[in-house]
Amino acid sequence: MYVLHVLRFVRSFIDENPLCCCSEEISNVKKKLIEGTDELKLRQKTSSVVLKVKEGQYYLKYNLTVPENYPDQQIKIEEKDCNYPPVFKRWFLAQSVEIARQCVEPPKKKKPKDPPFVLRPSMEPVVSFLIDEAHRYVNSECKMCRKKAFPDDPKTVELDEYGALHLERVYCGHVYHHKCLDTYIKTPPFQKGKMCHTCGSRIFHDKWKLTAETVEARWAHKQAKQRELDEVVDFLS
Ligand SMILES: [Zn+2]
Ligand SMILES: [Zn+2]
Repeated sequence: MYVLHVLRFVRSFIDENPLCCCSEEISNVKKKLIEGTDELKLRQKTSSVVLKVKEGQYYLKYNLTVPENYPDQQIKIEEKDCNYPPVFKRWFLAQSVEIARQCVEPPKKKKPKDPPFVLRPSMEPVVSFLIDEAHRYVNSECKMCRKKAFPDDPKTVELDEYGALHLERVYCGHVYHHKCLDTYIKTPPFQKGKMCHTCGSRIFHDKWKLTAETVEARWAHKQAKQRELDEVVDFLS
């Protein structure tokens, strides 16, 4: 009789507190929140968590819903509000969905040396990622010009994809101004490709898919044109 009573109590407790299945994860991420700027609110009724991260004048607000069969199924991620530059806004969402997916789905192509896949709860990795990245990027600098990459006022973010101050996020995760990166990629030396000034890894970006040979050929062509032009100027003066 007593056991039944306890079971009933546990059942109703779980029904009323659906987030208790990730209470440990929630308490872990709460330690990472920066006091006064970040917020993590539990919504037991909708079995969800509202995460707000703020850095300077930039903010993001995410709604994370814990499904009934958590952690077998990953949390559902919705962006409610975010004023980061579009490149980052898109990346935060895509990457957090990907992190959550990787917690519950084994990799499609398994490498022989990989350890066996272990299912993991997805709340903590996603929230940690959002907190860390949202804070870090706002204060990062473009290593080409050594200037702070994010303008202080989010309203002045360059939205033109090819504008000089448009922010580019290269494959390794580091940030450059469009113009700074473009100049670097198109200027010699071209051997071995271009390396990130911050971490030294090879620079990959969808906007610059040219091979080193093509870039070099174009550079040589431009230089030749310039010489011709200089000769004409010399001749005329
Ligand atoms: Zn720059
Ligand atoms: Zn890098």
